[in-house]
Order: sequence, then C-alpha cells, then structure tokens
Amino acid sequence: MLDPARNFHPVADVKFYIDQMVRYKYNVLQIHLTDDQGWRMEIKSQPKLASKQHYTQDDIRDIIAYAEERHVDVVPEVDVPGHTVAILAAYPELACKHLHDSPVKVDETTNRMVCAANEKTYTILKDVVREVCALFKSPYFHLGGDEAAVPANWAKCPDCNEMMKQKGYTKATQLMIPFFNNVLSFVREGGKKPILWCELDNVYPPANDYLFPYPKDVTLVTWRNGLTPTCQKLTQQNGNPLIMAPGEYAYFDYLQWKGDFPEFGNWGMPTTSLQKTYELDPGYGRPAAEQAHILGVMGTLWGEAIRDINRATYMTYPRAFALAEAAWTQMEHRSWESFKERIYPNITLLMKSGVSVRVPFEIAR
Ligand SMILES: [Zn+2]
Ligand SMILES: [Zn+2]
Repeated sequence: MLDPARNFHPVADVKFYIDQMVRYKYNVLQIHLTDDQGWRMEIKSQPKLASKQHYTQDDIRDIIAYAEERHVDVVPEVDVPGHTVAILAAYPELACKHLHDSPVKVDETTNRMVCAANEKTYTILKDVVREVCALFKSPYFHLGGDEAAVPANWAKCPDCNEMMKQKGYTKATQLMIPFFNNVLSFVREGGKKPILWCELDNVYPPANDYLFPYPKDVTLVTWRNGLTPTCQKLTQQNGNPLIMAPGEYAYFDYLQWKGDFPEFGNWGMPTTSLQKTYELDPGYGRPAAEQAHILGVMGTLWGEAIRDINRATYMTYPRAFALAEAAWTQMEHRSWESFKERIYPNITLLMKSGVSVRVPFEIAR
C-alpha cells in the first residue's frame, strides 16, 4: 500500500514503485487516495474535492495500464467516514452541526468526520464512488473505515443524535451501520467488492466483537497491534474474507531499527525489524480450515514521514523481501538463516537499479 494522500507521489514514482514490487511477486497495489492531508484524485462531478497535487483521471488510467502490463491490480482507497479533513475543506457544511464554526485545515490531523445525518454526505460520496468504480479495473474498492473519531463528532452532533433516536440506537458508533449501508451500496452498484480496515470494539486487547456488524461481502484488513488473533477468529466465524497486515509485522512506516529515522513525521512509532517481519506466519498458527478465508498479506506504507519515493523504497526494502517470503512460502520451508544469505544479492541488485534501500547492518557479516 502506498499513501500519496499524506505526501504526494508523482505518476513516474508510482510506476517506479511498481517496478520494484513486481520483482518480489507483489501483485496488488492499494493506493490510499484521500486523507486529512489531501484528496489526490480528480472527481469530475465534484471538482472542488481534489487538492492542488492530485492525479487526473488520465494519470490514474496511465498507472492502471502500467500496472496491468506487470500483472498488478491497483485497488483504490477512499477513506471514510474519518480521515476526511480534505473533504471538509472543500465542503465545510458536511461537518457535524456542533463543529460548523470550527474550520478545518488540510494537513492537520484533527479527527474530524463527515456527518452521518447529512444527506449531502451521501450525495457527494455517491458521485465519488461512481467515478472511482468506472475508472479502476480492480474488482475491489477500499473504503477505509478506520479510526473514526465518533465521540468527538457523531456523538455530540444534534443531527446525528436525532438519527440515533429515530433508529433506536444506544451508541453513536451504531451510526456506522446506516453510514456504511449507504456507501457500500454505491460500491456494489459500481460492481466492486468492498474492503474495510477491521475495527473492533476496542483499539487494543482485549476486544470481543466488531465495532459494528460488517456485512458478509466486506473483506476486512487486520492491522491493529495485538488484535489480529481476534480479527482472524471473528472474520472466520462471520464469513468475511481477511487480508493480513498486522502492524507488528507489516507496517513499513515503522522504524526498521532503533534510531533509524529522520526527525520528522515520527509520532512515536514502534520498531519493526527485518527479522520481525520475516517471522510473520500469515495463518497465525491456526489450523488450515481457520485460514481458508485469508486472501493474502499486505505491507502498509503510511506516508506521514515519507517525503519522496527514495524514502518510500528505503522503508519498504529489505522488509518487503521478508513479507513476500512470508506470503508465498509455507512455514515449514521458511528459514531466517537461509533468508539472511539470500537477501544480500537482492539488496545489491536494487542498489544497482538506483533504488534506495536500507542495508540491514545488524545482520551483515
Ligand atoms: Zn486514513
Ligand atoms: Zn452529525
């Protein structure tokens, strides 16, 4: 996953990133197109949405065609209902009513959401989803769904509270049900299969259930530290397909080694070493029958601290070698000792191709 929403990557850089990932059998690229820091795609019916730096629809077609020639499926992500400051900057009236007088500033993560009770929220998202579905060839469409700051937004909004009362809800998070009923229906109308980040009833263990009942056709991505075993159990029981991106192993924005980080954009990130990534068992040790719904693994490169493509590849490699092997090689054939021997030729190959990578000095001999 690339995140040009936080720091924009020009088309040529996205292609460069694709060139590297296909060497290691990565065949899906999720692009996180929208967030608090920017809206990176032209929407012809809602021209106010796009930030100054964005992909035109022709740019997107160009990226998709390039990826397709290399057997890579490009999955769009439009993140709602949280992480929506870029939408609120274009349409301030979509904020919850009690926040109408506190303007948003793009580039600041302020936990602002679009209002669940405003009809116009759905009018605009319907336009967005229709155009994105028509543009992208992927069978999938990622709608975010992560880190919705419900207590500060929907829970305090008079309109959202009225909607809760009408529906007989006791918790504001239940508004996720009608919100996603609407937005997921747009995705289905566009002929796509929806994906969401998996959120549970707690953000760290213990958690017992989904944040809200996900429809069966939603593929979920597990990501929060410590919650993957619960996500795996719940998705298996509820029939939701699952993508593995557990933060402990697969978050490529995390430091690779203590102190190996420039002093910007670091919100206190944990460390995920190369060896830690290598240790990922995509099935988390569960019996085969409990792994059957797992579609694959994903490395997530969140972009707050990724200012350019050199930084993007530096944070991706060599950990992406380890994640690729975790994805494609059965556990009984995996060996850290063997992997260590095999990565050096690949590091040299990438460097000779002009790719910025981190040399894992901690295992060099
Ligand atoms: Zn986001
Ligand atoms: Zn509201």
